[in-house]
Amino acid sequence: MILHCNDRVYGFSVNDIRPAVEQDGVLYEFTHDRTGVKLAWLSRKEENKTFCIGFATIPDNDCGMFHILEHAVLNGSKRYPVKEPFVELMKSSMQTFLNAMTFPDRTLYPVSSRNEKDFENLVRVYMDAVLHPLVVENPEIFYQEGWHYEPEPSGNGYIRNGVVLNEMKGAYSSGDAILQREMKRLLYPDTCYRYEAGGFPEDISRLSYEQLVEYHRKYYRPSNAYIFLDGELPVERILSILDMEYLKQYKREPVETEISIQKKTAPAEAVVPYPSIPGLPEEKAAQMGFGYVAGTFDEKEKLCAAAMLAEYLAGDQDAPLKKAILEQELAQDVEVFLYDGIKQPFLLFLMRNTDKNRRDEISKVLRETLQGIVRCRIDKDRMKAVLNRMEFQAREQEFGWVPEGVGLALKLMGDWMYGLDIMEDLKSESVFTFLRGSLENGYFENIIEEMILSSENQAFVCLTPSEDIMGERLLREKKEINGMTKGWSEQEKGEEAHKLRKLK
Ligand SMILES: [Zn+2]
Repeated sequence: MILHCNDRVYGFSVNDIRPAVEQDGVLYEFTHDRTGVKLAWLSRKEENKTFCIGFATIPDNDCGMFHILEHAVLNGSKRYPVKEPFVELMKSSMQTFLNAMTFPDRTLYPVSSRNEKDFENLVRVYMDAVLHPLVVENPEIFYQEGWHYEPEPSGNGYIRNGVVLNEMKGAYSSGDAILQREMKRLLYPDTCYRYEAGGFPEDISRLSYEQLVEYHRKYYRPSNAYIFLDGELPVERILSILDMEYLKQYKREPVETEISIQKKTAPAEAVVPYPSIPGLPEEKAAQMGFGYVAGTFDEKEKLCAAAMLAEYLAGDQDAPLKKAILEQELAQDVEVFLYDGIKQPFLLFLMRNTDKNRRDEISKVLRETLQGIVRCRIDKDRMKAVLNRMEFQAREQEFGWVPEGVGLALKLMGDWMYGLDIMEDLKSESVFTFLRGSLENGYFENIIEEMILSSENQAFVCLTPSEDIMGERLLREKKEINGMTKGWSEQEKGEEAHKLRKLK
């Protein structure tokens, strides 16, 4: 069957059909009429078929509700009530990718397989997992994946345990996580990016089971779903599965998921402790980050230029910023990168293993290096080499460890939810052509000036080493747990013990 615009197939309307030149394929866009599910299919000669369903999930605190939900929905569903369907699938399916991820403003469930029957089965398992997870009726799954109390092995009081809780405690034992969180809090004080979508360890236990179920009800509904399909696949068959087996029973219930744009803010700064790295002398034990909001998701050329600048400034030993900082022994290493995949990406300059008292000197070198580049113009050959490298990666669709279809899904889902035409993420040639033509006309110099030197959204974070931050955290947690549990009646203790027995 050949599809045309405005055709209706299994409850879906065909909205648009366009060639996807760089992928050598055709992009079909659909809307499910009854629920409003948005679906895009990149039809092309790719044997490995990909399905990805995503929901815009906007956190309104640091409890990590969407991270816990991501884990929880993978613990069995109505049609697949096994305890760990994903573990089973890992063993039995011919999947080439199977996972789920929580981002700062969305949750994605991508899967791929080369085998048609297997692929259909995976689509069913994923749809059932997100729409009909057992967790909405079974609190044990929340206790296990999120958090719960259990008696301390010594029998002396209680501790908190749980998969996501422990995962995030692990993540926040690293300086990088602490620095990035602090940076986002400072750069985006008025948007959802000030929250840790993964859950901040000290806040996770503020989330109740009832709240989790409510978050699921509100956000995991078809009207808030985006589905991306890639590869050679029987699209009508997939649409019929989606409609008849899942979407038909729902109606349109839009969810408010608009993310505001951060207004201009005064430069902000913070000094925060982090677990010290053993063996680093005092004058090398601090970590610094200088952050600058780079633009918005739809400014593709500008964001690509920012990523190129990062590489230009600190990508190798001869890179001008890295060289200047290292020569003056102001830090042991310099990294610059574009923190991408959010509605307003930012450029982050990291000074590794530095002296907390040398911030002014570092700031000065940073400014002077950038001012020097603006004054004397960029080194065209160096920038051209960066451009060639990035263009090559884009053309080869190199996504590292994930299959191409999954890589594409991860790349375009966010922009799609922000309202961008997803075709913008399927074409990179025009962006590189524009940037190649801008090597000599002052474009990059302007970007440095605008984005960094006279930035209207910038922040500074310094991490200072603390020998006992981990100990202090433990102590704070212990005190809090004691406060919560010491007044428990015998009945409450019994209920906790009962909960635990069910968990085992
Ligand atoms: Zn996790």
